[in-house]
Amino acid sequence: DKVSIKTALLSVSDKTGIVELARALADKGVRLLSTGGTHKAIAAAGLAVTDVSDVTGFPEIMDGRVKTLHPKVHGGLLAIRDDADHQAAMKAHGIEGIDLVVINLYPFEDVRAAGGDYPTTVENIDIGGPAMIRASAKNHAYVTILTDPADYPELLEQLASDAGQTAYAFRQRLAAKAFARTAAYDAMISNWFAEALSIDTPRHRVIGGVLKEEMRYGENPHQKAAFYVTGEHRPGVATASLLQGKQLSYNNINDTDAAYELVAEFLPEKSAACAIIKHANPCGVATGSNLLDAYKRALACDSVSAFGGIIALNQTLDAQTAEEIIKLFTEVIIAPDVTEEAKAIVARKANLRLLTAGGLPDPRSSGLTAKTVSGGLLVQSRDNGMVEDLELKVVTKRAPTHQELEDMKFAFKVAKHVKSNAVVYAKDGQTAGIGAGQMSRVDSARIAGLKAEEAAKALGLAEPLTRGSAVASEAFLPFADGLLSMIAAGATAVIQPGGSMRDQEVIDAANEHNVAMVFTGMRHFRH
Ligand code: 5GP
Repeated sequence: DKVSIKTALLSVSDKTGIVELARALADKGVRLLSTGGTHKAIAAAGLAVTDVSDVTGFPEIMDGRVKTLHPKVHGGLLAIRDDADHQAAMKAHGIEGIDLVVINLYPFEDVRAAGGDYPTTVENIDIGGPAMIRASAKNHAYVTILTDPADYPELLEQLASDAGQTAYAFRQRLAAKAFARTAAYDAMISNWFAEALSIDTPRHRVIGGVLKEEMRYGENPHQKAAFYVTGEHRPGVATASLLQGKQLSYNNINDTDAAYELVAEFLPEKSAACAIIKHANPCGVATGSNLLDAYKRALACDSVSAFGGIIALNQTLDAQTAEEIIKLFTEVIIAPDVTEEAKAIVARKANLRLLTAGGLPDPRSSGLTAKTVSGGLLVQSRDNGMVEDLELKVVTKRAPTHQELEDMKFAFKVAKHVKSNAVVYAKDGQTAGIGAGQMSRVDSARIAGLKAEEAAKALGLAEPLTRGSAVASEAFLPFADGLLSMIAAGATAVIQPGGSMRDQEVIDAANEHNVAMVFTGMRHFRH
């Protein structure tokens, strides 16, 4: 199962380490073939190298669109070496075997990330490279395919210890990696088209990404984990800069994403906003007269749960807010930006991770979300519905006051980011109580009320913040019992999608208690 490397084809866009590799191969007597730019680099180092054009007898044409797409190359890659017919074909057509292929592709991801224009990005779709990678990987019984400079040293070790040969297991592993590479490359291209054309129907897209990093472990210490980036132009945890603190864990990334997507619902030019997240659910969200105010008000909702949480801000982190945040143990802060002063303050807590995203994601933008199920992937378009865009229908005798309406919208925005069943009380742009993830809606309502009472005790308030609040339910109230629990907690206004068989029962109960209720017509399940 060992194969001797006699001929190698090198064709790389990223020329890192290629001359050193070529030299090491040449030293072992390997014949080198190469394409235009790579040939130039290797020849310039004084090494003997043959241009692929001299092998094919065909020049590179169309600005390099066609370089290696030729039977002399692909025959050399795909031929089964010990098959008599294949041997005969090689002889008949003057095809020589290629045993080692070193390729990295046109830098489509980089061009896309740099915001290249449409024609430039299209031109950076590599065609011949993936064809050669796939041909070589298919024929891994004979061919060694390198797609990552990180694998160059292992190749050289194998060649040195095995007298110019590679082992089958090594070639198999490289083949698996090669197909992962071309699959990720094509996923990136598909994602780019989808973004350029605002396509968010799953069937026109493929879910995939490029490995960004491996984490020490997954959701639990016995699970392995890695982070893949899709290349989407969406400020957030995948593209943010980590200014200080350790690498983010799997749970950190998940929670930071939840926090930042939530806080992005609040336009920074309208008001400062802060969201504090634990286990992907908010334990406090608030707007404020400034960031410090927003943070304090978010914290007040449930300061006990906020311990060890993730904080997301919708404006540049400033010194006074940083000074307040570091008083409590926090895992991660994410903000669009940070002032130099605030950076220095956060630096006093060496373990606190600070991320700047450079901007906020647009909550209305399209895109896909995915989760795995046993044997499959569930894919859907992102929940980009916004309460501002909905036609709110007042269904009770009493219409909400201006303040109630504002609080209803605030609560409904937050409820969209709370695991179902979600019940969120809010007053004056501050969450007053959050009930999350219960199997019954009435339980979520009760828990939120209970938590508000505890928070009031902790803050030394005469009554919980839920008194005179607005309350949101992310899905319809199936019975009046949930509503009665909300009224008991002190809510005077209710926002919910509506659409239950028993809507009238719920409306009647609201009217009986002089509660204002609006229907949004949009549900925000989140599981
Ligand atoms: P070079 O700098 O050597 O001229 O080009 C190297 C790049 O060309 C590599 O990224 C390789 O994947 C790509 N490549 C090799 N053959 C072909 C081909 O026939 N068509 C296209 N479009 N790209 C190719």
